[in-house]
Amino acid sequence: MGVRLGVLALQGDVSEHIQGFERALRVMGEADGAVIPVRKPRDLEGLHGLAIPGGESTTISRLIGKNGLFEPIAGFDGGIFATCAGMVLVADRVDDPRVRTLGLIDMAVQRNAFGRQRESFEADIEVRGLERPYHAYFIRAPVAREVGNSVEVLAEIPAGIVAVRKGQHMALSFHPELGGDPRIHVMFLEHLFTGK
Ligand code: GLN
Repeated sequence: MGVRLGVLALQGDVSEHIQGFERALRVMGEADGAVIPVRKPRDLEGLHGLAIPGGESTTISRLIGKNGLFEPIAGFDGGIFATCAGMVLVADRVDDPRVRTLGLIDMAVQRNAFGRQRESFEADIEVRGLERPYHAYFIRAPVAREVGNSVEVLAEIPAGIVAVRKGQHMALSFHPELGGDPRIHVMFLEHLFTGK
């Protein structure tokens, strides 16, 4: 059976995520996988995984509501790959009342946690499960401040927690769809398909 993946395509860096999944499927030798943009509830049908991209979490939150996607995503039974604004959306607590969180991962997230001076930066970080450091791009990034017992911390830097896993879901402060290193997407997909 072909792997079917979606990228929430309401706002943000959608095409980079589509390419990121496509690159990872190639690396994994999954020739018959498909990656589609998701705009309506019916687009979720038959998907194994869904990326929620970076962008502006307040805007994406509003558009999720407007497109009738809140309940379908909150009840999605595949894996969710949430990056940056996506990490804010999948949390169950966030420091901004304009964001209606999906409550998929038990964690408290702070938006724009690095302040103005370090709005954007790059860093080589250690990620649990990867042998070599990962070159991560942070762009007005959030961090997780507290995570529940069922949440595995995959990466932490002095400013806070920047990568977590809960069951099939992953959430990252940084942007693995930028820079061309497929290892984080591959890690998400491998876990989705083999549980490892
Ligand atoms: N600061 C943005 C937010 O909280 C996230 C930035 C990003 O996704 N690159 O919505």
